[in-house]
Amino acid sequence: MTEERVFISGAGPVGLSAAARLVHHGVPVTVFETGPDLAAESRASTFHPSTLDMLDELGAATPLEAQGLRAPKLQYRNKRDGLIARFDFGDIADLTNHPFRLQCEQWRLTRILLDKLELNPAFEIVFDNGIQDCRQDSDSVTVVLKQGERTGRWLIGADGASSQVRRAIDVEFEGFTWPERFLVLSTPFEFADEIPDLDPVSYVADQQQWHFLLRIPGLWRVMLPIPADMSDDAALDPEYGRRCLDWVAAGAGPSDVVHRTLYRVHQRVAKTFRRGRVFLAGDAAHINNPLGGMGMNGGIHDAFNLTDRLAEVWRGSAESTQLDLYDRQRRTVTMEAVQVQTIQNKKDLEAADDTDQAEFRDRLRNTEADPDLRRAYLQRISMMASLKRAAEID
Ligand SMILES: Cc1cc2nc3c(=O)[nH]c(=O)nc-3n(C[C@H](O)[C@H](O)[C@H](O)COP(=O)(O)OP(=O)(O)OC[C@H]3O[C@@H](n4cnc5c(N)ncnc54)[C@H](O)[C@@H]3O)c2cc1C
Repeated sequence: MTEERVFISGAGPVGLSAAARLVHHGVPVTVFETGPDLAAESRASTFHPSTLDMLDELGAATPLEAQGLRAPKLQYRNKRDGLIARFDFGDIADLTNHPFRLQCEQWRLTRILLDKLELNPAFEIVFDNGIQDCRQDSDSVTVVLKQGERTGRWLIGADGASSQVRRAIDVEFEGFTWPERFLVLSTPFEFADEIPDLDPVSYVADQQQWHFLLRIPGLWRVMLPIPADMSDDAALDPEYGRRCLDWVAAGAGPSDVVHRTLYRVHQRVAKTFRRGRVFLAGDAAHINNPLGGMGMNGGIHDAFNLTDRLAEVWRGSAESTQLDLYDRQRRTVTMEAVQVQTIQNKKDLEAADDTDQAEFRDRLRNTEADPDLRRAYLQRISMMASLKRAAEID
């Protein structure tokens, strides 16, 4: 029997944003999640203005803000000279209702979304029963679960970077893996007492060890690259972590690391975001380095683009060919904006010679000094420019 439902694989921020948007449009949804509960890992912690505007439409921005920290400014530094440039989202306050980054862990969003979704009778979630395979015909999709099978009308694969849905529809994940891994250390140490003029979001260029600092409520998160020839054990050694933080804080050394994560970083994009009645969104469709905080944010932008179209097709007010626009728009901006920007961010911070470091510093200072360049830059880093560009593609 074909159920009149959209299926979603994965209850991460992207799957649940897609579910919330669909039920908001009156479309019944079932989310299948492989885990026994929502993930509670420490991963994304930055929500951009453009994403907050979207989450507001789901009633999720205000509760998220209550649990997060507003960061109206972001800055670039280099280890040698200190502050290079500072950007204030207030300069684009006419374009967004949220002229700041919100620093808040992604698991708080999924909890907020699920609590709201569970009040809606059109929503169903099935934990501990992930999608293992799928097959489709011209008007339905059947998902093969750990236990049982179900058939619905459409399937959204939002099941993360190792997406089983992406494998099931045989879509290549093209790109590359960086040789270095990234280490994230969270500490209650107050870096702002030691580093002058420190904003809650601070990217620090350095020829030896670039890094960035992000403040979330009660903690600072410091992210640094780990050289390819260092073992995981050595990178996760508490003493090594302490030395890194001591170096970041110019010798005033924090001792208390409450959380550490080491992970591999990739730049990959799925060859297509749509195959028939099956779509890919979020990390299932694209992954990138965390410089700029664009992974989850871009995934939530996918979820809105796709579900607004899907709801129209569901209601019969648009042809299903309209769904191809999802692939054209979102895949194009993922390639043109997200991949390019995140790779450039990494290249700028790690630049190994003085000329390249100076070019980066001068480029930032010129941008900061010119009101038009500054506004264009803020729209790029807050991902508003990529939304505008996507809307222009037909
Ligand atoms: C340390 C770190 C920091 C980051 N910082 C940022 C940041 O500041 N800003 C930002 O935008 N991004 C950031 N990212 C990236 C961000 O975490 C991801 O882009 C985001 O989690 C993607 O969300 P998603 O819903 O697509 O996938 P996920 O969050 O991976 O969720 C996928 C869900 O699918 C489930 N699942 C897996 N397989 C199956 C299956 N077969 N069937 C059913 N369910 C399945 C999983 O259990 C999981 O719940 C960061 C990542 C890391 C690791």
